[in-house]
Amino acid sequence: MHPLLIAFLGLLFGFIIGYAIWILLTFHPLKTQEISLKNHSLPGLHIFAFKERMVNSYIIQTSTTTIMIDTGIGEKTLHGVESLGISPADVKHIFLTHSDYDHAGNIASYPNSPLSVGSGEEQLIIKNVPRFGKKNFNAFGRDDYEIINEETPITVGDITILPVFTPGHTLGHTCYLVQKQYLFTGDTMRILPWGKRVPFLRFINMNHKQQLESLRKLDEFMETNNVKFLGTAHSGIQWL
Ligand SMILES: [Zn+2]
Repeated sequence: MHPLLIAFLGLLFGFIIGYAIWILLTFHPLKTQEISLKNHSLPGLHIFAFKERMVNSYIIQTSTTTIMIDTGIGEKTLHGVESLGISPADVKHIFLTHSDYDHAGNIASYPNSPLSVGSGEEQLIIKNVPRFGKKNFNAFGRDDYEIINEETPITVGDITILPVFTPGHTLGHTCYLVQKQYLFTGDTMRILPWGKRVPFLRFINMNHKQQLESLRKLDEFMETNNVKFLGTAHSGIQWL
């Protein structure tokens, strides 16, 4: 083989391995557990993380109200919820960060929980716009979802949820600030093991430029609102 070809193949191989390691470094979801809120806890508030393969979904619970952010991929998240002593029937509302299969899976298992999703996402759900070239990629198991049109606070029992539109990863990707302190970021960002926040993977983002703008918007939002906690979908949590 020509030495130049060997050098080229060596470089290509190195690049692929390096990129794979770079991706893996940012996929480190939490195990299914109650998250210790340390000295940032509010009275009576509990936050739980559920792991299914590479993704986390979350439940936030007060003494009277339970809400869920994303529903994972399938049965494992549901079993995780039950294993921590929470009945799926107690989930008073589900907020989806977006409609990708690893965030909105098994949604039909919560038939009595009202379901909300950012307005931009509807074009994917109703199969008008393809994702990864397939029009039914983000199709849903439910059609009774509510669309969030505005970034205004939503109240469920004694929990307040402020949606923050962060399109780019998908058309209507939305983050949620819960109880004015805890921000759930879906696939807006990944976090490296040493804490640096980086955008989500370019080749999975529908509009990477928009994604970068959303990340800048979120940085400002975090600063203005003095956010103390980030719950990501694939990189665990971060205290700020
Ligand atoms: Zn995801």
